[in-house]
Amino acid sequence: MNKILRVDMTAQTVTEEAVGGQYAGLGGRGLTSKIVNAEVPPLCHPLGRENKLVMAPGLLSGTAAPCSGRLSVGGKSPLTGGIKEANAGGTAAQRLGRLGIAAIVVEGEPPKGTLWKLVVTKSGAELLPASEVKGANNYKLVEKLTKTYGDKVSYISIGSAGERLMSAASVAVTDLENRPTRHAGRGGLGAVMGSKGLKAIVLDDKGAAAVPVSDQEAFKQAVKKFSMALKEHAVTGKGLPTYGTNILTNIINEAGGFPTRNFSEGKFEDAAKVSGEMQREIILKRGGVATHPCSRGCVIQCSRIYMDKNKKYLTKGPEYETVWANGPNCGINDLDVIARLDRLYDDIGLDTIEMGATLAVLMESGYIAFGDGAGAIKIIREEVGKATPLGRVLGNGCAVTGQVFGVKRVPVVKRQALPAYDPRAIKGIGVTFATSPMGADHTAGYSITANILNVGGTVSPLKTEGQMELSRNLQIATAAIDSTGLCLFVAFAVLDIPEAFEAIYEMINAQYGLNLGPNDVTALGKTVLKAELEFNAQAGFTAKEDRLPMFFETEKLPPHNTVFDVSHEELDATLRF
Ligand code: SF4
Repeated sequence: MNKILRVDMTAQTVTEEAVGGQYAGLGGRGLTSKIVNAEVPPLCHPLGRENKLVMAPGLLSGTAAPCSGRLSVGGKSPLTGGIKEANAGGTAAQRLGRLGIAAIVVEGEPPKGTLWKLVVTKSGAELLPASEVKGANNYKLVEKLTKTYGDKVSYISIGSAGERLMSAASVAVTDLENRPTRHAGRGGLGAVMGSKGLKAIVLDDKGAAAVPVSDQEAFKQAVKKFSMALKEHAVTGKGLPTYGTNILTNIINEAGGFPTRNFSEGKFEDAAKVSGEMQREIILKRGGVATHPCSRGCVIQCSRIYMDKNKKYLTKGPEYETVWANGPNCGINDLDVIARLDRLYDDIGLDTIEMGATLAVLMESGYIAFGDGAGAIKIIREEVGKATPLGRVLGNGCAVTGQVFGVKRVPVVKRQALPAYDPRAIKGIGVTFATSPMGADHTAGYSITANILNVGGTVSPLKTEGQMELSRNLQIATAAIDSTGLCLFVAFAVLDIPEAFEAIYEMINAQYGLNLGPNDVTALGKTVLKAELEFNAQAGFTAKEDRLPMFFETEKLPPHNTVFDVSHEELDATLRF
């Protein structure tokens, strides 16, 4: 990957430049965060002309490296006001890799009221008017674009939420079935894409040459080693392929850290009804697909295809965090309701976690009752989908909704909703939620590994000891993995099997003709985090933004009856390195 595409929405031009200088050797999150930190004024309005939307495949994307199809999307977040990287699976990163594109940087501001699509082929890229798809949601949009560009391309798009600049808007990426089911969900980057007037990107890699690999034999050996480790590990080789990420519902519920009814309890009485085991049973009974890759070359295959009661395609199998946010966190115990919400979010283009947390806050306000699945679907479809005044409030996320409805228990950090793990019962993840430059984000430093799954060691989830170090090390490692294009789920094997970790830098070395070692991986992770922290500091973030909402420190969570009590000093020291 040797070029950056600059898309100037003010002049409607696309230019190419070689990757070099401070951007050389970077990919994925490493590149998006570096570009945002270097080129976006930290105090700019996230929806203004000074912000940039950056999309970058990882260093290994486009090759035969297993699970290397993650696309990083970055910019200044309209939700948090800080730097943001959210990544998605699907087919786009692999195609960008084969097209030799290290990043697409969308900048400037289009003439008011105009809408555009970017079409990228091996011969170049052009920006074309897209008024014919104005207001379309993702499924209809992809259907329409497919009539022109076919289904052997990738589509990156926004639904109506992105066009309407909602802070919970996502960026959708099509999957192997040409459906817009993979989303860079967190932080409202869909609204940034909407503010640029960019409705869709079409990536056509027809005729593109294979990604050059410096040492083919060494690359092949490293790929083999990596695949074997992924297949050997219990989580990546068995748990995730069999039950998907929703295998976690029963596990986190048993651990008493399963946030229920807006984080008021740690166990849900009907967890079994929404569990991964139940989801698998339903999928198989209805002729869905229970083990499925979201992108080419994934050997873990945690994705699924979910059918409705009439055995017709409804959505991809909702992920654990989606199930939790829109299920137990809202007192809802029906997987079909959750799947219908998931389909609506993918279509309108919304972050499933932010929206589930928002619904729960709305329920806490008494506007609708906990457990009201039909009411939740109606509100998302009729209010958010149609951008009524209420819908606009909700589409701007949990913090705004809590403020408008006068709710005191609003589970956000840096205005981004907490995902599916209660930090009072799983304290390592609380450190990550509090301190990640991304806002509350489980993927930023997934302490569930050592806190709950005994992967990469064991750190008691209920004690304060060791949580800071655990979160710090995971945040550094994650920032590095997010730069490779590898799906974060490879981390389970990487943390337990030394050969899996070795294989990562061996694949990069073989591809680029480098001689990196383990210390370089750590150094990369630190460099990425430093760029992100620097941006946030200049955007005005201080230590007070690195805190959980106070109710986590004062309100005991049943059944353990614990509070989050990792000290503020430890939180402040977490990313001081
Ligand atoms: S492990 Fe799951 S999320 Fe990751 S690339 Fe494979 S199917 Fe996609």
